[in-house]
Amino acid sequence: MNIHITNAEVLLFEDGQFITAHKDLYICGSKIAGVGQEPEGFAADKVIDGTDKLVMPGLINAHTHAYMSLFKNFADDRAFAEWLDKVQQVEDFMTVEDIYWGSMLAAIEMIMSGTTCFVDQTLKSAKPGVTSGPESAAAGAASDIGMRAVISRGLAGVADSEESLMKFGQAVSEMETFKGNELITFMVGPHAPYSCMADYLHKLTAYAKEHGIGNNIHLSESDFEMEIIEKEHGCSPIAYVDREGVFDVPTIAAHCVKVDADDIRILKEKGVNVALNPKSNMKLGNGFAPVEEMMEAGINLCLGTDGSGSNNSLNLFAEMNVEALIHKGNKQKAECVSAQDVLRFATVGGARAIGMAGMLGEIREGALADLIILNLNEPQFVPRNNIVSGLVYSSTGREVETVIINGRLVMENRRILTFDTAKVYEECEKISERLGMKQ
Ligand SMILES: [Zn+2]
Repeated sequence: MNIHITNAEVLLFEDGQFITAHKDLYICGSKIAGVGQEPEGFAADKVIDGTDKLVMPGLINAHTHAYMSLFKNFADDRAFAEWLDKVQQVEDFMTVEDIYWGSMLAAIEMIMSGTTCFVDQTLKSAKPGVTSGPESAAAGAASDIGMRAVISRGLAGVADSEESLMKFGQAVSEMETFKGNELITFMVGPHAPYSCMADYLHKLTAYAKEHGIGNNIHLSESDFEMEIIEKEHGCSPIAYVDREGVFDVPTIAAHCVKVDADDIRILKEKGVNVALNPKSNMKLGNGFAPVEEMMEAGINLCLGTDGSGSNNSLNLFAEMNVEALIHKGNKQKAECVSAQDVLRFATVGGARAIGMAGMLGEIREGALADLIILNLNEPQFVPRNNIVSGLVYSSTGREVETVIINGRLVMENRRILTFDTAKVYEECEKISERLGMKQ
């Protein structure tokens, strides 16, 4: 389908800065075919009036656990260990269908708040050969609603236990089943250095290397993790997984809250992408990542919400707002971590982290058409003094009216077009009831 967006404000990324310009935008199939300039022979199937609208790249949620949308407003206000225990007790009873419906609920929340792509660490894989419907887990949910996703099955334990072999086999089978799907790609998901043993880290990294994909791992999140790795391996989690070869493939490391200068040097040297999760780190009492120091070192930073169990929202506009504020407060330094920085984390930073630099996260000719359209006639944006500041400091995410992913209209005027949302809400209420999650 060819889409012509007329007369809009367009958010462009030029020389490392976001600017807005008044332009028409042309989408041909899955790609942006013209920014301001009509491509030769272009005929629109659909025209969207962009008057008083902002067209910007869809946001990229660089770290989440979509199925955990079922855990929102569950086990809140508890210490980390107690929280984890409560969550795991429920997870033990979750089916692949639960993962699908939870992930679908997450996808709806993300689309409705302007996210077009998410990096997921999930609990179960799609059943062999199934790419759609409730047995297709998180990958199938994203594909069914038309959202872009980078999926990894969270894996823990030792490499050769019966359970690990079974789960690894399921993860591999899922990757093969979804081969060729334009929206769904994969990473390998060693859960964390304290839960995934060295032999398993080696096996998973070898698989990633062989298949040209990356590692998606939690690192240096909590004091608990720092103490256990120091005791068992005599160093920091980052130094330890580096020694075990995890960074020999492209890696997204989620959290990186408890990092020192040596860790930052390793992350930079190995080109590790760091997914920041400020709300989750605060909610679970883990503190603040040294974002200014990591930026100064030139590390690629991206932004995630983490799962709904530790946030409890998947709204990246809210996450951008928090990310831009907490370091100013924590360091008593108002000039650190700017609106421009944070918007970059949530767009081009995320694109780079998933190996899609230049194709996602920015509006340019030839890039994939993953776009969101916001209504600027909202008090949050009046007067239009600085739209970039407005996106980070004033926006709620509900200004997002229309969402296009891979050139397809997924939401128009706040109505999801690609899936029955009422059915998803009904299924999720049933699951919550069955798993005894209502409090
Ligand atoms: Zn996580």
